[in-house]
Amino acid sequence: MAEDIKVTVLGCGGSGGVPTIGPDWGQCDPKNPKNHRKRASILIETRGKRLLVDTGPDLREQLLAAHVPYVDAILYTHAHADHVHGIDDLRNVCKQKGTALEAFGTEKTLQELQQRFPYAFEPLKANFFYKPQLIAKPILGAFQAADIPVFAFTQDHGFGMVTLGFRVGDFAYSTDVKHLDDSAFEALSGIKCWVVDCIQEAEHPTHSHFQQTLGWIERVGVQEAYLTHMNPSLDYHETLKKCPPHVKPAYDGLVVTL
Ligand SMILES: [Zn+2]
Ligand SMILES: [Zn+2]
Repeated sequence: MAEDIKVTVLGCGGSGGVPTIGPDWGQCDPKNPKNHRKRASILIETRGKRLLVDTGPDLREQLLAAHVPYVDAILYTHAHADHVHGIDDLRNVCKQKGTALEAFGTEKTLQELQQRFPYAFEPLKANFFYKPQLIAKPILGAFQAADIPVFAFTQDHGFGMVTLGFRVGDFAYSTDVKHLDDSAFEALSGIKCWVVDCIQEAEHPTHSHFQQTLGWIERVGVQEAYLTHMNPSLDYHETLKKCPPHVKPAYDGLVVTL
């Protein structure tokens, strides 16, 4: 029997969030709270454990908003700044949990993180968390994070960049993706819910756009899908009107259970 899975969208904004600094709201109605988007990240809860996907610059606010004191492991999609530069906030996550945290990602992502934030991976020199303490766990394919079975598949983020998509049970998360190959569709086969990249309506060099994402959702045949990594050109209400009934734009704080 499938385990219950609870997914919280901590952030569904593009790399600059919505609004971007200015404030620039683009086409988004500032009066709709669903248009206030933090950087892309989700929390997956199952079997009494919490997996955090990415640690972007809004991490502190996101964990406070979700009332989450700690997580049990981190999954990294890739090392772009909007997905990792809140890494220092893991210090207080380690403090609340009382242990180091395993950080899963591709070898390349973890190498980049260790170059950019070496202190986060060095052993503690005192018996309190004056810094985050992460343990790099390179993965691809099937693995376990905090005893949760996860499947990681590669996605093309454009310009030769590879990101990881993650599947946990019948849920999958695919952010920062321009092309999906047949092996990715194989990994997605049979899922019930998908949170998937859709940056804007027009084609984009490094992200999927509206029509392409809708085509992917059709191909996977998923019953329930949510758009993420949306930039300020996608107003929640206007985008919802253009979606088929089983597809919706995500919003920060959205909780999906399956
Ligand atoms: Zn991104
Ligand atoms: Zn990216």
